Amino acid sequence: ANQINTVLSAIAGAERVFSIMDEEVEDDGGNLPENYRIRGEVEFRQVSFQYDKSDTLQNLNFHVAPGQTVAFVGPTGAGKTTTMMLIARFYDATSGEIFIDGHNIQEFKRSTLRRQMVFVLQDPFLFEATVRENIRYGRLDATDEEVVEAAKKANAHDFIMKLPNGYDTLLKADGSEISQGQKQLLAIARAFVANPAILLLDEATSSIDTVTEKKIQEALEELMKGRTSFVIAHRLNTVRHADMVIVMREGKIAESGSQQELIEKNGIYANMLKQSKGAAS
Ligand code: ADP
Repeated sequence: ANQINTVLSAIAGAERVFSIMDEEVEDDGGNLPENYRIRGEVEFRQVSFQYDKSDTLQNLNFHVAPGQTVAFVGPTGAGKTTTMMLIARFYDATSGEIFIDGHNIQEFKRSTLRRQMVFVLQDPFLFEATVRENIRYGRLDATDEEVVEAAKKANAHDFIMKLPNGYDTLLKADGSEISQGQKQLLAIARAFVANPAILLLDEATSSIDTVTEKKIQEALEELMKGRTSFVIAHRLNTVRHADMVIVMREGKIAESGSQQELIEKNGIYANMLKQSKGAAS
């Protein structure tokens, strides 16, 4: 009698598990072939988006040619991350359209997009696994040689070789045995392994020692070559190198153009620049 409740709730639990296993895979409507190779042209046409009732993004319009770098700047909550989420089709626009290589984003299977887009986040996710496996996560069929080659391009090889077991060093999920900057180098190595057409970067805000910082900058520059890159930029240097700067405010594009154009316009961005120079001097 004591056990009967446990047994009944276990049966109910098992039923739920089986019903999830029986669930059809979500049909995302994508009709382009799974192996479609993305060139990296991205266009937003009057894109608006709501998480709930209020507009998080309002009427975004921009066009990016393959291989260009776009820097998003603006205060927290302006909608920079949400815009990136829409590019990777984590959400669909509430209204308006997004085109990739001239195809409506809804024509792509999510798996096709995910394979060719990589997020490099401020605080990269590490698995409780070896360094090698953590890098290989970028593309599961990468060979050991490809993993090492990617680590070299990412400026991560040297520090990995100094770890107790090199590439076989087991990392904890919180990555406590390596520094924040080294975690980012691993994330960059992972991105090299994935070899995506489109990069989505959230630049680190936390301070990292200058030597590692320089390694990260170099590795990122190399990674961004030939790929369309969207960067949530916290450093003026990143903005300076971008082909297009998009200044966001309250879910809208307040200004966009090259850094030079925005300086000449003498608007919001020009003001931000003056203030940061004031703060630096
Ligand atoms: P940013 O990257 O510029 O800081 P976000 O895109 O993260 O801005 O956020 C834009 C707005 O959307 C904010 O007001 C935020 O609170 C809201 N928001 C972000 N994620 C969600 C979510 N999952 N559900 C509801 N609202 C969200």
